[in-house]
Amino acid sequence: MIFEFDADELGLFSPNDLWYCPNCGSRGVVGELRGFRAGVCPNCGGPAKVTMFPDPGREERLKEEVDTLVKDFLMGDFGISRTEISLNFSGNRGYHIHVRSPSLRELDKEARQEIVDYVTGRGIDVRYFFDVSRVPPRGPKPTDGGWKGRVARKLVEILSGAKDASELVRFGVSPALARRIMRERGHVVELIKKGVWPFIDTKADDAFASVSALVRSISPYMGKEIDTNTSVDIHRLIRVPDTIHGGTGLLAKRIRDLWSFDPYRDAVALPERPYLNLHVEYIPEFEFAGEVWGPLEDKNVELPLHVSVYLLSKGVASWRLTTQG
Ligand SMILES: [Zn+2]
Repeated sequence: MIFEFDADELGLFSPNDLWYCPNCGSRGVVGELRGFRAGVCPNCGGPAKVTMFPDPGREERLKEEVDTLVKDFLMGDFGISRTEISLNFSGNRGYHIHVRSPSLRELDKEARQEIVDYVTGRGIDVRYFFDVSRVPPRGPKPTDGGWKGRVARKLVEILSGAKDASELVRFGVSPALARRIMRERGHVVELIKKGVWPFIDTKADDAFASVSALVRSISPYMGKEIDTNTSVDIHRLIRVPDTIHGGTGLLAKRIRDLWSFDPYRDAVALPERPYLNLHVEYIPEFEFAGEVWGPLEDKNVELPLHVSVYLLSKGVASWRLTTQG
């Protein structure tokens, strides 16, 4: 079974990324738009695409989600051994997690789909988390296993750091409930630690919907609608490790240690020489192959082969055929 994590699909955009619209031809820098929405052209509403550049902050976010899937879900909830899990850099914007567990091999397609639904939080009926027959209602504690503990821990974490109700709303809690919880936040935190959920009592449907939304948004897939046929599959052909990805010139490869892995250092497969004459349309400042490049806009430059191929495959530079001498 393979789980894919892609920065693009998870909407992990960086202010330095470029967006462009094949429909109307508009383009720009993501950070110049407030609240850029993935896939939507701010000009015509058509489907916009994003060109991503190396960003350590984004890599960190992506690794956190991969780490959560591996440690909390696969190893924690499903009891899969670390030796049955291998991590691969995709060669482009993400990671593939391969699970080769005998216990998973015996499962049919429906059972595997249930695993996917569990991980994305889509298959979780949060009503089973609560006992509303008791007064006040009982619910998950931070020390509980699986999703119950995960939800309680996350809510305590959000409440402990939240400045106002909007931070709860961001995780899917309804505005009315968020305001109510925030009014007695300290008290609510203490109660949740004991597994007591006072605000589940009235307007329970709103509360259940809020907890469901919280579950989805804290899943490793961050509440995104993931096409499970392409993101998680059984028999899918996946890029073979140690092959060069045509969209980046980087090497798809197996990773020994996720946290120390830097794709823009460790997966650079091409040499420095020869240098190529390029016309660069736009690049922000970024690190690649141990050096800092950019920012450049509408400039002719001579760049090493590895970073040249990276920019050419992204379509942000073109190769100038020049006559020497
Ligand atoms: Zn457009």
